[in-house]
Amino acid sequence: MTNRELVELALYSSKKLEVFEEEMGQEIGYVQNGLLLMLADDPESLADTIEMQRDVGVELGVLEAQEMKNFHPKGEMNMQGVGVGLYDKKAAYADPYKVTVGYANKARELGAQVRNGVLVTDIKVENGKVTKVITNKGEIATNLVLNIAGPWASRINEMVDVKNVPVGLMTLQHALTYPDGDYEPMTPTIIDNSIPGNLYFVRPESGGTVLIGMDKDDPNKKVDPDNYYFDPPFNTLADLFGLIIGRMPFVKNYRFQNAFGAPDAVMPDWNPAFGCPNGAPEGYFCALGFSGHGFKLAPAFGEMIAQMVRGEETKFDTGIFEIDRFEKGLALGSQQNVMG
Ligand SMILES: Cc1cc2nc3c(=O)[nH]c(=O)nc-3n(C[C@H](O)[C@H](O)[C@H](O)COP(=O)(O)OP(=O)(O)OC[C@H]3O[C@@H](n4cnc5c(N)ncnc54)[C@H](O)[C@@H]3O)c2cc1C
Repeated sequence: MTNRELVELALYSSKKLEVFEEEMGQEIGYVQNGLLLMLADDPESLADTIEMQRDVGVELGVLEAQEMKNFHPKGEMNMQGVGVGLYDKKAAYADPYKVTVGYANKARELGAQVRNGVLVTDIKVENGKVTKVITNKGEIATNLVLNIAGPWASRINEMVDVKNVPVGLMTLQHALTYPDGDYEPMTPTIIDNSIPGNLYFVRPESGGTVLIGMDKDDPNKKVDPDNYYFDPPFNTLADLFGLIIGRMPFVKNYRFQNAFGAPDAVMPDWNPAFGCPNGAPEGYFCALGFSGHGFKLAPAFGEMIAQMVRGEETKFDTGIFEIDRFEKGLALGSQQNVMG
């Protein structure tokens, strides 16, 4: 399940990432390898969402289970429980670290100061307007503050007494593996969301490695964003890797290089939250709660953040992502388990 606005933003962002090197002068390891999403649903039940995505401009192919059996160049896949596959041949992957560095360097080139390793500890407000940011390295006078602090966004909101934005925490885990033999960078990404309660993806990574992304989270676990790295217990990993090997027997001899995880801010409806929260001081803006899919939306949201703080109309309609939608009872359809 997805919504039109999100598809438009993701498509726009993917086109910006495709020309990132040209526009920002930074190579980002962009590889357009295509992506196959496997679902348990029958194709008819997805007809509306498929039509909507095609209408927006996504070149979406629809595959039946038997057509996917020999889709993966490394070996046969077991199609048990898969009802349909959605294939986007233009989907790509890129290095998020290089993208961040590329944007930061371009901003510097255009006159911005980018300061690393500076912790915001407080925000001062006078007469209902933000006036100053206090950091561990001094104070900065300003009439504009943007809260884009991801998993730490609630802490920043509390500094200006904003308590009505329900930002939660989720975690995402990755295992970097060595395949047995060559694994071409153009090998398509497979996302398997056909097994209830489980989601994983398998895609090529640099240096001939294979990245396995896992989202089998305990929604009740307490996450400390200052101290999170990778915590799935062995039995969770054993279950999940059992499912992955069951689907793709060819991964059974792959070996771990390392495993890592990190938190992300998640909203109750798994959609980003954008704008000035109710009761916030003048000059205070938020773009937060990217709910596990902030990388693929970053170019679009980055542009819209700039437009918002300049008081301009945003390039895309952000109405549905309004930050106060939860207290207004306008939460969106869930984007849970969106990866890519
Ligand atoms: C393992 C993993 C895999 C993922 N895979 C994908 C994917 O395939 N596709 C996708 O689209 N998304 C993916 N995501 C999600 C994506 O990375 C996030 O949605 C995105 O990074 C959120 O961006 P953000 O700017 O809101 O927050 P962040 O990227 O978390 O940035 C927040 C920043 O705020 C800083 N900060 C916090 N508090 C303070 C303070 N007090 N003072 C100063 N600075 C502060 C932090 O240091 C941090 O740099 C993945 C995430 C993880 C963890």
